[in-house]
Amino acid sequence: MRALVWDGTGLHVDSTIEVRPPGPGEVAVDIAMAGLCHSDVSPIEGRISQPTPAVLGHEAVGVVAAAGPGSRVPVGQRVVLTVLRRCGECRHCRDGRPTLCPASGRPVDSPFSRAGDVVHQFVRLGAFAERIVVTHDQVIPIPAEIPDPVAAMLGCATVTAFGAVEDRARLRAGESVLVTGAGGIGLNTILAAKAAGAEHIVVVDRNPAKEKIARTCGATEFIVPSDPSQIVPAVQSLVPGGVDAAFECAGHTGLLDAAVRSLAWGGRAVILGLPPTGAALDLVVRDLFHDKSLLGCRMGSVDPHRKLPDLAERVLRGELDLTPLVSAVVPLEGAARLVDDLRNGRIDRGFLRFGSDS
Ligand SMILES: [Zn+2]
Ligand SMILES: [Zn+2]
Repeated sequence: MRALVWDGTGLHVDSTIEVRPPGPGEVAVDIAMAGLCHSDVSPIEGRISQPTPAVLGHEAVGVVAAAGPGSRVPVGQRVVLTVLRRCGECRHCRDGRPTLCPASGRPVDSPFSRAGDVVHQFVRLGAFAERIVVTHDQVIPIPAEIPDPVAAMLGCATVTAFGAVEDRARLRAGESVLVTGAGGIGLNTILAAKAAGAEHIVVVDRNPAKEKIARTCGATEFIVPSDPSQIVPAVQSLVPGGVDAAFECAGHTGLLDAAVRSLAWGGRAVILGLPPTGAALDLVVRDLFHDKSLLGCRMGSVDPHRKLPDLAERVLRGELDLTPLVSAVVPLEGAARLVDDLRNGRIDRGFLRFGSDS
């Protein structure tokens, strides 16, 4: 079958990848569409280490093609994928907090191989493939009425952003918000802040071309700083006293520093973007004294099996429109161009189409 493989120096469509059948508690999923997230580009940019060769991709929708013994999901079910595995037995799993489960990020044997050699599975998924094998906890049923790109996005960018705003920061109507980084997660964060009734939504991005889509999503102010040091005074002039919640979506310590310094008393700064390994923050601890919080946030800090159906319902009711974020849908062969467009800020969310028509 075909898959998009990162070999450490380049991305290639490889038609010689094999995938094993699902074992106990596993399912095989035929991928219909997969979104390109900045996390997929991180191994390419060397920001996170990834054994190679590897199939990238982790934001996808497809159909269950085969089910192993004990799988709870039937063949034919349309599903969205999640990176989170779970043991199902620890106290965090019992509490519905799988992002804290020690098994959630544990590597397992990759289902992919090439000529008998292992091909790794990026973040326990490897969704840029015609077929993948995952645990049955990693698939969440999704209604047929939701278009493929929107369904795929729900599984990563949207669930992460809405979890961060609604469940982690617990944003209330009338509060003010700062969002740094207007990529896929940042734009979804703006949508979530607007849905929560935020009064000011101040967005920071170094790319002025992002202003239009940011405002479409609900940004009330847009700042293009030439240096992160310009952010705090700019935020203070727009929202005197600071913002109630700040969401750092770029994985950039300079932006995280600005986010913390932009907080009002009682403010919450949430880390959404994955910082590079070893990145450190020079924090004036006294500044947090007035009931401020600095919060890590993995995949929205939510149970995707609870949050994702809720978000899907909101899409179906017309309360949540993700379609403005869908910039490009291309066949697998267009992947290299899509990666280049994402890295250079020319697209918001791009998608790879699989299946017979691709
Ligand atoms: Zn992602
Ligand atoms: Zn667990």
